[in-house]
Amino acid sequence: MEKKQFQAESKRLLEMMINSIYTQKEIFLRELISNSSDAIDKIYYRALTDDTLTFDPENYYIKLSVDKEKRQLTLTDTGIGMTREDLENNLGVIAKSGSLAFKKENEAKDGHDIIGQFGVGFYSAFMVADRVTVTSRALGEELAYRWESDGADGYTIEPAEKAEVGTQIVLSIKDNTEDDNYDEFLEEYRLRSIVKKYSDFIRYPIKMDNIVRVPKEDAEGEFDEQTKEEQVNSMVPIWRKNKSELTEEDYENFYAEKHYGFDKPLSHMHINADGAVVYRSILFIPETPPFDFYSREYEKGLELYANGVLIMNKCADLLPDYFSFVKGMVDSESLSLNISREMLQHDRQLKLIAKNIESKIKSQLKSLQKDDREKYDKFFEAFGRQLKYGVYSDYGTHKDALKDLLMFYSSTEKKLVTLDEYVSRMPEEQKYIYYAAGASHARIEKLPQTEMVADKGYEILYFTDDIDEFAVKVLVNYKEKEFRSVSAGDLGIEENEADKQNEAEAAEDKELFDYMTERLAGKVSNVRASKRLRSHPVCLSSDGEVSIEMEKILSMMPDNPNVKADKVLEVNVNHEVFASLKTSLEQDKAKLDLYTDLLYNQALLIEGLPIEDPVEFTNMMCKVMV
Ligand code: ADP
Repeated sequence: MEKKQFQAESKRLLEMMINSIYTQKEIFLRELISNSSDAIDKIYYRALTDDTLTFDPENYYIKLSVDKEKRQLTLTDTGIGMTREDLENNLGVIAKSGSLAFKKENEAKDGHDIIGQFGVGFYSAFMVADRVTVTSRALGEELAYRWESDGADGYTIEPAEKAEVGTQIVLSIKDNTEDDNYDEFLEEYRLRSIVKKYSDFIRYPIKMDNIVRVPKEDAEGEFDEQTKEEQVNSMVPIWRKNKSELTEEDYENFYAEKHYGFDKPLSHMHINADGAVVYRSILFIPETPPFDFYSREYEKGLELYANGVLIMNKCADLLPDYFSFVKGMVDSESLSLNISREMLQHDRQLKLIAKNIESKIKSQLKSLQKDDREKYDKFFEAFGRQLKYGVYSDYGTHKDALKDLLMFYSSTEKKLVTLDEYVSRMPEEQKYIYYAAGASHARIEKLPQTEMVADKGYEILYFTDDIDEFAVKVLVNYKEKEFRSVSAGDLGIEENEADKQNEAEAAEDKELFDYMTERLAGKVSNVRASKRLRSHPVCLSSDGEVSIEMEKILSMMPDNPNVKADKVLEVNVNHEVFASLKTSLEQDKAKLDLYTDLLYNQALLIEGLPIEDPVEFTNMMCKVMV
């Protein structure tokens, strides 16, 4: 018979799988059982809309059996089965497009990330088996087909006989090696414990033959061995169980089984609400964002069950956008099974549940922030940006709900701090919450604009996310303290005598500043004496609402709104350079032009802005040198 090759991508993935990128081989069983359960679900749903079909729960099950002699583990289900095409398409192709590219980046991590996430679940069978035979008869078909493969070599498909609709998977378990014990997957007690661990809540019975010893009727003290079929799983979903019965590991297993994330959850919530709304829910805060989290492709949502039956995979209405990272499920008795998506959106119960969930998530985050700062830091590194978007979006509607959850890096504490912590540390005379925006902490630290505020000993929040400045513009203030950029015109700091004197002198220097302003027309709106510079000669600041950082960010947006900051070149009148400027105003205008251009370009560089003509800039530098 002709052997077909796996598609190239599939082949590579299969090799990785076989060479066991995943150390916990036992999860193959979870993957196969979960496929079987899905296959039974499909019949169940079909029966909901197809009058010729009835779903009698008695007839639907998953069964495991072992033949130690032949080293075979067989998994049988009474699910919807697969046609020849299904076998070809579902088992002949592994990774869906794009997933392998992603896999490459993550190769270093363990395989946990990949299995199931991209529909490679079935292939995990090759971690424990050197040959897999799938015999399946699809619903409505007379003929069955057998798919067979011994791994990377390819596979065959041929017609077969099968009395009942459903799928049978026979795994030829590998021989033990020096490093790996495969015999364990032929031991009933071991299989039973794997099923209990990962698949206990599967809604259909998982049966297994158990050999029991029955006392012989005629001979005292002697036993007969009888095979008895036993149901291994309790079928009680984890969310219906008591929190006290469950361990951290149970929740982690549930998270993995459900493919909620690649990681381990950072924190979980188990809600059993029976007040105004009745529902049960298990929610997780992941530890790391999914690779597509900050992209348009990411879909938020929770699994929605009506009385134990899954009715929707990703119910988006249950989560506000700013908590879109939350994973998990909701089960409610008050929802109808056949409710349509459109109806769901307007469902009063669902809205109440969503509101309830939102406040639970919020208080969970608050208590993490208060009681487990290390975890909260981790959370914020991963998802803080989403919260900041939340503050900014919808014209600030949610800002009050979210402002206490925000954190920013502090110049004095050298770590993330909350706004509340910042405000509580403010000296009495400090008027504003100061911030400085830039590409990195190191860059911001060196910004000349921070000198004055830092000199005063005030704490500065470092904004390195695009969204930061926009978010505080929406917030306006926190505990009645306004946010103020260190580059703002008015810093609200009492001027010292020296500054006052400088101002008086600056008036005298009006001619110089006017000249420079003229020279830089179209580039800056003003050149003036700086009140914030201490050691640097120049810096850029902005008048008005739009800061230079904001201009940079807006200019990168796809539909560039072309909003410009009203830029000001500030000059440090105490700097030696200033004296040269003054002299050249009187003696050599060409020199003043050169100096003005140079200083302007320097200010651009410090600000992280591109200089208009780098070649011209270096020419100017040379001119100064000769
Ligand atoms: P995933 O389950 O993540 O889609 P798998 O590789 O485990 O990826 O399975 C691929 C597909 O093969 C499934 O989506 C399903 O359509 C089909 N399949 C696998 N196992 C069974 C089964 N026992 N009965 C019916 N269909 C199955």
